[in-house]
Amino acid sequence: MTNQQLELNIGWLYPRLMSTYGDRGNVIVIERRSLWRGFNVNIIPLDQNATDTDIRGVDVIVGGGAQDRQQEIVMRDLQGAKAEAMREKLENGTPGVFTCGSPQLLGHYYEPGLGQRIEGLGILDLVSVHPGENTRRCIGNLVIEVTASRLAKELKEMLDGATPYLIGFENHGGRTRLGKVEALGKVVYGLGNNGEDGTEGAFYQNAIATYSHGPLLPKNPFVADWLIKTALQLKYQQEISLSPLDDTLAMQGREAMLKRLNLSLSTTVAAKV
Ligand code: GLN
Repeated sequence: MTNQQLELNIGWLYPRLMSTYGDRGNVIVIERRSLWRGFNVNIIPLDQNATDTDIRGVDVIVGGGAQDRQQEIVMRDLQGAKAEAMREKLENGTPGVFTCGSPQLLGHYYEPGLGQRIEGLGILDLVSVHPGENTRRCIGNLVIEVTASRLAKELKEMLDGATPYLIGFENHGGRTRLGKVEALGKVVYGLGNNGEDGTEGAFYQNAIATYSHGPLLPKNPFVADWLIKTALQLKYQQEISLSPLDDTLAMQGREAMLKRLNLSLSTTVAAKV
């Protein structure tokens, strides 16, 4: 198949309610990197007007962060057939990137600083609790080394053998504790899941859950390529190789941030896809 015959449907979870923290950046990067390669792209809002059929039709899912109140509204909507469709998609390996409020909702529950526990979908074996309105939020730059075994291996191959470090920015009150689900990575700089156990995010089937907000994919374009490649391979059941793009600016941005944080990690190699 030629690139022009390939189509990527990006499902965007509750764009109006869950875009408080700039996570649309992740949608834009997946869209752009696909368009630059000549693929057809559709962005499908998976919001209150969407049906379970809409959810079933997407190839990659992006979910952003939200304030506690919005998370409650989302969870009232994401029930029944829609919840079932989300579960099926993720269990069957649809790739996705879920940030902050989204993983909290994919876990068993989220307890906000004020108010009632919000029951999640229980797809990810994790729980999140906000210790209270007077507790400090976890805010700041975040650097992690991806340790989730299959993902780390696949990203490493794309990076010509370099260790996959993700550079991001976190802003959350909730603290997440993992059950049996694998962590996405270990914290090199910042706080991650809870500021205590050194873990960051979670990785389940092909779902990436993280506290790193919407500059995640702009700062780590190889992760966007992993999502695109994984989505297209699952959809078309064939090996997909992506043409390389010029990521010089992103790589310079990574170097600048690592310098600012006084970290010397070798991450300069551009991805081989
Ligand atoms: N409301 C959640 C918290 O404070 C999620 C915030 C977010 O998505 N950034 O933990």
